[in-house]
Amino acid sequence: MFGLIATRHFDPHNTRMDYHAKRRDRLLPALLTEGIDALLITGGHNVTYLTGFTGDSSFVVLTADRVLLLSDPRYVGQLGDECPEVETHVRAMTRKLHEAVGDVLTGLGVRRVGCESSALTLAEAEALREAAPTVDWRPAADRVENLRAVKDDIEIASIREAIAIAERAFAVFRGLLMPDDTEKELADAMDHYVRRCGGVGCSFPPIVAVGERAALPHCPPTGRRVSESDLLLVDWGAVSPGLYRSDLTRVLPTHRKASSMNDRLRSIHALVLRAQEAAIRAVRPGAVGKDVDAAARSVIADGGHGDHFGHGLGHGVGLQIHEAPAVRPLSETVLEPGMVITIEPGIYLPGWGGVRIEDDVLVTPDGHEVLTRVPKDLESLWPFG
Ligand code: ZN
Ligand code: ZN
Repeated sequence: MFGLIATRHFDPHNTRMDYHAKRRDRLLPALLTEGIDALLITGGHNVTYLTGFTGDSSFVVLTADRVLLLSDPRYVGQLGDECPEVETHVRAMTRKLHEAVGDVLTGLGVRRVGCESSALTLAEAEALREAAPTVDWRPAADRVENLRAVKDDIEIASIREAIAIAERAFAVFRGLLMPDDTEKELADAMDHYVRRCGGVGCSFPPIVAVGERAALPHCPPTGRRVSESDLLLVDWGAVSPGLYRSDLTRVLPTHRKASSMNDRLRSIHALVLRAQEAAIRAVRPGAVGKDVDAAARSVIADGGHGDHFGHGLGHGVGLQIHEAPAVRPLSETVLEPGMVITIEPGIYLPGWGGVRIEDDVLVTPDGHEVLTRVPKDLESLWPFG
């Protein structure tokens, strides 16, 4: 008989719990240096990030040695499944959520409490003040959002999965695309493909824009048909089962015949691609957001289209589709390993159309990794046989 070797059985749930505990630990130094006794977390995505709990109407109270999740009886089973290690305070149906906050804070005997001041409405702030009259409330905005900008391994794996789902959905989308399809039909179809490919849903309502409608960076889909123009812009993403998001944009050529439009599409597309490649090369630890933005913006300006790129270069992506860090002209954010950002330069010409190319990029210790793999060149994206 062989000797028994003690091995720790790999339990993905336990591992997830460790990650949530580590994230909470990262908040503690801020809490102590700011001289506050507790932090009240009210943002739903922040509650999920810190505990794994995905229900709504629930808050977290964090002190140096306790974590309490305030929820209600609807979630008793879900709390046990998603965050069994977290102490919970399930309020009676007769107590409102802010009253439960008052009960918990009074019970803990804390005085100075930081709150997520950028996410609270004035009405919520007043209700909290009323429910906890002895508490000295301190604004503590964006503490969790700033932590969320740097992803851990589990988050990066979940973003990779969200990208893989979005890319499978795009392959189906491109394979089934017909000249008679409308923007609206295609946006609805993409939502379906994303779900069929394993996504919880789309990470935002897909943008499907034919021709000059692509000149509007966020245009809602209409009855316009693919065949009415030479280009189709698609901006889409998926939510993975782990609730992380992806965000991609591609422009498909939809007319083969040589035309001035085709030539223009080719030259504008080549310029946007050069700008995107320059920005991606600039992504590394220590790079400043505004400099990465400038790397793309200067290429577009040199190409004569400086006035036609009217939005920031990119944004963080994670539990939300737009989160820290921002990558735009005034961004002083210094990139760190673990950040996942979009790089999405565009050129928009009213009356003609627009070209945007968007990929998701991970900042690595020695540079970057482009996580999205869908081809970008117009030939590879030709949809019709
Ligand atoms: Zn996008
Ligand atoms: Zn985006």
